[in-house]
Amino acid sequence: MRKNETVAAEALSSEVAVEAKLRPQRLEEFIGQHTLKENLSVFLRAAMMREEQLDHVLLYGPPGLGKTTLAHIIAQELSVPINTTSGPAIERAGDLVGILTNLEPGSVLFIDECHRLSRTVEEILYPALEDRKVDIMLGNGPAARSIRLDVAPFTVIGATTRQGMLTGPLRDRFGILFNLEFYDRDSLSAIVHRAARILDVEIEPEAATEIAERARGTPRIANRVLRRVRDFATVQSSTKVTPEIVHHALEALGIDDAGLDRLDLALLRAIVEKYDGGPVGLDTLAASTGEDAGTLEDVCEPYLLQQGLIQRTPRGRIATAGTYRHLGLTPPKRDGGGLFSD
Ligand code: ADP
Repeated sequence: MRKNETVAAEALSSEVAVEAKLRPQRLEEFIGQHTLKENLSVFLRAAMMREEQLDHVLLYGPPGLGKTTLAHIIAQELSVPINTTSGPAIERAGDLVGILTNLEPGSVLFIDECHRLSRTVEEILYPALEDRKVDIMLGNGPAARSIRLDVAPFTVIGATTRQGMLTGPLRDRFGILFNLEFYDRDSLSAIVHRAARILDVEIEPEAATEIAERARGTPRIANRVLRRVRDFATVQSSTKVTPEIVHHALEALGIDDAGLDRLDLALLRAIVEKYDGGPVGLDTLAASTGEDAGTLEDVCEPYLLQQGLIQRTPRGRIATAGTYRHLGLTPPKRDGGGLFSD
């Protein structure tokens, strides 16, 4: 590894370590998502009272909303071990058989990005989810035979950013489905205060609100902005994070008043300036912005859609009146003479 790479790798691992430190451990520390939390606490208590295995859980929502955190909380609340893996990490059917047959009884198996499991791996998972059995092939050619092995009781927690990309048979095997929503300002502000306490940062309430308003409804972004704002406070020798320091930091980070970052804005500008407000396909937008189509779809679009800053149509993405206004432009008249709707 060259020196720059070593420094970058160290910075990344310290970011990961801080993120782990900020992760709530128990359900009561998990802020926001009230309905989800209430339901989950009933399902957890019922499973414990009946001394049964918790049903398999599917967590769906954009990145950074707390899916991994919840998976760890569930294992912690049930006092069982957790094994973590992800769709792309399980390359061969044999890898999954190995994982399943080595699970400790009662444990949680967290599968991140479960929409990226291959079909052959999914085929192994179905009987395991349903009957706690795995089928393995022994030998080759005409002498090959299949045997069934028992798997210890376990709960799969699947996480996905794209519910639509999950195959029907896989989705149907989860008994509990939770949809994580973007967080409101008050919840994010509480998350910022909690993180500030853990990181030993003194923060003024208005400064926390400001971060909350510009965090795209996402706890991971709120925490990340707080860490960068803390850097600005440190170099300015300020003992306290003030709204001024937050403004300064957000400007330097290229985050605008609505919390949109450079990539969000590049996407909006491409639709309006290069494609006349659309409709324009995702791959074309990926080429125009120099970003991977999957990132645009998973990371940028959910929040822009929720804010009414883009619309998805069968023919592609289109700008709304809100897109034009956000970019400081006047929405054009539509062909039919009407204005763009929001
Ligand atoms: P995902 O798996 O959905 O991408 P994570 O579970 O990794 O998201 O969450 C990202 C970070 O945001 C975590 O490190 C955690 O500190 C924070 N976080 C997420 N949800 C909450 C919450 N409800 N309360 C407090 N912090 C949260």
